Amino acid sequence: MSLIVQKFGGTSMGNVERIRQVASRVISEKNNNNDVIVVVSAMSGETNRLLNLALEIGGTHNNLATDMVISTGEQVSAGLLSIALNNEGYKAVPMLAHQVKIKTDGTYGNARIFSIDAENIKKQLENNNIVVVAGFQGIDDYGCITTLGRGGSDTTAVAIAAALNAERCDIFTDVEGVYTSDPSIVPEARRLDVVYFDEMIEMSSLGAKVLQIRSVEFAMKYKVNLFVKSTFVDGPGTQIKFSSKEDSMEELQVSSVACDKDEAKLSIRGIPDKPGIAAAIFSSIADAGLVVDMIIQNISVEGLTDLTFTVTKKDLKKALEITQNMAIKLNAKEVLSDDKIAKISVIGVGMRNHFGTASTMFSALSKENINIMMISTSEIKISCIVELKYAELATRILHETFNLGINNKL
Ligand code: ADP
Ligand code: ASP
Ligand code: MG
Repeated sequence: MSLIVQKFGGTSMGNVERIRQVASRVISEKNNNNDVIVVVSAMSGETNRLLNLALEIGGTHNNLATDMVISTGEQVSAGLLSIALNNEGYKAVPMLAHQVKIKTDGTYGNARIFSIDAENIKKQLENNNIVVVAGFQGIDDYGCITTLGRGGSDTTAVAIAAALNAERCDIFTDVEGVYTSDPSIVPEARRLDVVYFDEMIEMSSLGAKVLQIRSVEFAMKYKVNLFVKSTFVDGPGTQIKFSSKEDSMEELQVSSVACDKDEAKLSIRGIPDKPGIAAAIFSSIADAGLVVDMIIQNISVEGLTDLTFTVTKKDLKKALEITQNMAIKLNAKEVLSDDKIAKISVIGVGMRNHFGTASTMFSALSKENINIMMISTSEIKISCIVELKYAELATRILHETFNLGINNKL
């Protein structure tokens, strides 16, 4: 008998009919003589609805009470799926974070898991129960509910799989695996049989929300056997694994293109070009708990320079307030902001061994007259900030340029 963790996302849990479909997938795994733990997301749209209610009444992101509100969608899902399983004659128990003892830090809205005490789950499995866990939630040192960041049910599933040493963790979603790009933007995108952990980490951090980045980091750290599969179509899905020597012979220069519309950029113009200025600006931003992504600084002219950086859209208001205060202190000329941007990235471990990826990328964008506002690179990715209105076009053009729509592996 093996232990399998299955996770079902919002679309998969979208209505009563779909929850019954999910139940039959769970049952067929149980009928394979396996122990099954299921992690569920809120029904699609529910977390947004709850978040909007909290914001409308005056709440803020990343706040204790807001987490209390937005964590409830998963509770409903866990209850409904357990009922559906019971109705089919299977023993199932719904469990919340305090019962599973998913301990996190106190960063409301974006908490990190410290530990999971597997004992309660094990007891339920010993009694032949299917365990249905509400994803996305944890508890802090005070026993308060925290949430794990958007898409966090993926992380709940992988963390439970790691804590219980599961044979496999299957992330079931509304597409058939991980693709060469978001299939909702690029119809020619191709499902990948295998994606390497390094690539998946980049993909997740650059907008491919099919797996939350923390779930990939967890799976990598604890060597969880991780798959992405479709709830609705049977198929092999995608395995996320470590690359081996033989694999690297076949590496493509670029294996995927990601698009992230969730960033905004700020520029602080006309600041003195002297040591300590960048430190002062970014320390105050970090002190407010905001994460900065890309940064560029222009060449100084007559002792003055411009700094441009990006934050997530939800952090823009707070970042703007802080930057405007800093601008007054530093006697800067002005602060500009723009939330009509998108970050388009090409990713591939093969970039390490190929030359010219950047020039191919930039030429392809320029042929379409798409202006690049910012660039950042790592060993295995290149990202460009472009105008939001070009997000889809740029993604499709790059997918085509790097020949990702056809099976061009050796
Ligand atoms: P769930 O609700 O099941 O957690 P998500 O909406 O979080 O599902 O993630 C699945 C979605 O991720 C897909 O519908 C797809 O539009 C999007 N996506 C973005 N990039 C990719 C990619 N490279 N491969 C597959 N899906 C992707
Ligand atoms: N329901 C949460 C969200 O919408 C968590 C998840 O779906 O994974 O972000
Ligand atoms: Mg998700």
